[in-house]
Amino acid sequence: MIVRPGATIGILGGGQLGRMLAIAAAQLGYRSHVFAPEDSGPATEVSAAWTAAGYDDSAALAAFAAAVDVVTYEFENVPPVALDRLEALVPIRPGRRSLEVAGSRPLEKGLVRQLGGQTAPFRPVTSLAELTAALAEIGTPAILKTASLGYDGKGQVRLQDGADPAAAWAAVGGAPSVLEGFVRFAAEFSVILCRAADGTSVAWDVPANVHEQGILATSTVPAPDFVLAQADAAIALARTVADELQHIGVLTLEFFATDSGPVFNEMAPRVHNSGHWTIEGAVTSQFENHVRAVCGLPLGSTARTGATARMTNLIGAEAERWAEILADPAAKLHLYGKTVRPGRKMGHVTRIG
Ligand code: AMP
Repeated sequence: MIVRPGATIGILGGGQLGRMLAIAAAQLGYRSHVFAPEDSGPATEVSAAWTAAGYDDSAALAAFAAAVDVVTYEFENVPPVALDRLEALVPIRPGRRSLEVAGSRPLEKGLVRQLGGQTAPFRPVTSLAELTAALAEIGTPAILKTASLGYDGKGQVRLQDGADPAAAWAAVGGAPSVLEGFVRFAAEFSVILCRAADGTSVAWDVPANVHEQGILATSTVPAPDFVLAQADAAIALARTVADELQHIGVLTLEFFATDSGPVFNEMAPRVHNSGHWTIEGAVTSQFENHVRAVCGLPLGSTARTGATARMTNLIGAEAERWAEILADPAAKLHLYGKTVRPGRKMGHVTRIG
């Protein structure tokens, strides 16, 4: 299936990822139509149409499907009821299985293990009794994470020596979760891969990612040597996962670089914050290649444009430093048009060296 320039791409979700996808789509001559529960969002100014309706609004979903040629999404927790409705009417790329697996921590870790990758020791838990038993097996330190809907360190509790499982269980609201052993890592990095409809795939250079309070702070390429030494194995694993899922579009896998090689943490069936550096730092950005893939077009080169690239997130009030950032002629500033709130991703800045 080829979706020709001039056609309309439907995007579920209208946040900053939707915004950057819509910009890339427009550069290739496509129109974007966002479907989101909110009346407006970061993608408003850059999309040709916006449907504000709930993901359970069957009539609105049908009208949206009729108005677009292909549907993609900017987040992995698309309610199944919306997918059921859309799937019968319009192609959705990446497909259903990518969403199911990447939307569930136990499923994604299970799949990676089955395909030969390493993960932290983990146990799915659905009750306080299971958590207590899992804690006895895995030991401390450990991290309890909700099985779905967690991101940016939200929905997570760390358990140290002597921690009270009941308090941790209350902190995740008693939601189905996974208990993970703590991984001792030298660095974190991600594989950003794009798989085309014909099964070919490309990957960008792996960025080294630094998180602060569970939120991505910086992504840097090239990564340090000890990360680069495990990049090929991680990319090969990501490619196997993408093939297994018959994934079409960008797929991101996050890893810990450890003494025993790459340890998979989590995946996202979509463009990713750690790939924002590719807008200026690569010949083809993650957003453009995602659009190309969902439209059935050939993928562009992922080669770097400079010797180094560093993306720094602007969180909360940091975005108010825009004047100072712009005073550096080498800094490329991206602001998402959001109102400032503490801990909120407001924009990012990329410097190519
Ligand atoms: P996540 O939401 O799974 O991406 O976790 C957010 C951040 O918490 C990660 O990027 C790591 O910095 C840290 N983290 C998560 N899981 C583990 C683990 N099993 N061991 C050590 N650090 C972790």
